[in-house]
Amino acid sequence: MTADPQHPVRRRLTVGVNVGGVRVGGGTPVVVQSMTNTDTADIDRTVEQVVALAHAGSEIVRLTVNNAAAAEAVPLVRDRLDALGVAVPLVGDFHFNGHKLLTDTPACAEALAKYRINPGNVGRGKKRDEQFSIMIEIAARVGRPVRIGVNWGSLDQDLLTRMMDDNASLPEPLDARDVMHEAMIASALGSAARAVELGLRRDQVVLSCKMSGVQDLIKVYRKLATRTDHALHLGLTEAGMGSKGIVASSAALGVLLQEGIGDTIRVSLTPEPGGDRTQEVIVAQEILQTMGLRAFTPLVAACPGCGRTTSTYFQELASDIQGWLRAQMPQWRSEFVGVENMSVAVMGCVVNGPGESKHANIGISLPGTGERPVAPVYEDGEKTVTLKGDAIAGDFQQLVQAYVERTFAKR
Ligand code: SF4
Repeated sequence: MTADPQHPVRRRLTVGVNVGGVRVGGGTPVVVQSMTNTDTADIDRTVEQVVALAHAGSEIVRLTVNNAAAAEAVPLVRDRLDALGVAVPLVGDFHFNGHKLLTDTPACAEALAKYRINPGNVGRGKKRDEQFSIMIEIAARVGRPVRIGVNWGSLDQDLLTRMMDDNASLPEPLDARDVMHEAMIASALGSAARAVELGLRRDQVVLSCKMSGVQDLIKVYRKLATRTDHALHLGLTEAGMGSKGIVASSAALGVLLQEGIGDTIRVSLTPEPGGDRTQEVIVAQEILQTMGLRAFTPLVAACPGCGRTTSTYFQELASDIQGWLRAQMPQWRSEFVGVENMSVAVMGCVVNGPGESKHANIGISLPGTGERPVAPVYEDGEKTVTLKGDAIAGDFQQLVQAYVERTFAKR
């Protein structure tokens, strides 16, 4: 376990894995990753989405490699990203035919920083072992780490059947759900041990056991974390759409992260039609930041609003300010040390406005219904200026910019 004196969470110490220059596990901060949903063979759209995910803060991006066209596209995607100065490591997601694609397309094997292998989707019976071995031997030869990614929707059926049969013959059989949890863990640990036998180093193996139920996921990872020191990738699979997906992922990942479990996370959100894929990156960052595990961008504390403020003005201002802060971050991060830790408050009326604003680095308390149309601004707990008129939003942004320039050291 590692202890951060600033934070009560003691991270479980796992074997660190180098994924294309990004270290996962080994006591390093929890890494945010994401996955594209473009056809990988569509190079333009894939590059565009990887760039968007990387700019949003994804530190590793996974893409599906499901056929020869996708495998051939991977090195071209890598080249285009490098030409654009986007160094984010790419992970290939392989199922069923990964052994063939990695064998037939060596440039794909080279361009990827890690391979994700699902032991339930490698093949059945004898073929399973052969095809798994081929992928691991390529990874070992090319020097790439592997994630053994077990998923309950594609759990190795031979293993599950065997474990269910063994369980049925016990004097006191376990509940079928517990047997399934054990089968997930056995699949991950057995495959990891086999990968090491085949030539991967222990610091080239990451494990995951993804499930779609919050309680299932917590139970499985708690057990898994006591039985291995491999780096763990956390994620609730098929989390769903909108608030359901966000809440379910936050609940599951929050519990495990608080117990020090998890070295890298992905939030598997189903985007709304036409929705922005980068939302999964922002949610992952916000889970880590609201838990105090990492800081990515200044977060806005805003009151929920109530009958004391009947206009939507402060909601719009809170939303605009959060969007503006996020947009400033690429520039600010390169210029100012620690700016991502800044706290900003946007409050709707005088009841809690001044108090909350005083706790923030910089905060504004807007006028509620019937209050004088003025908005006091607080910086480091002191009232510094009172804004009024139609340009409060722009004026406040200028004050935040000035605060940043004055407060955070230049790089
Ligand atoms: S700060 Fe004012 S507007 Fe916001 S919730 Fe509290 S009482 Fe309502």
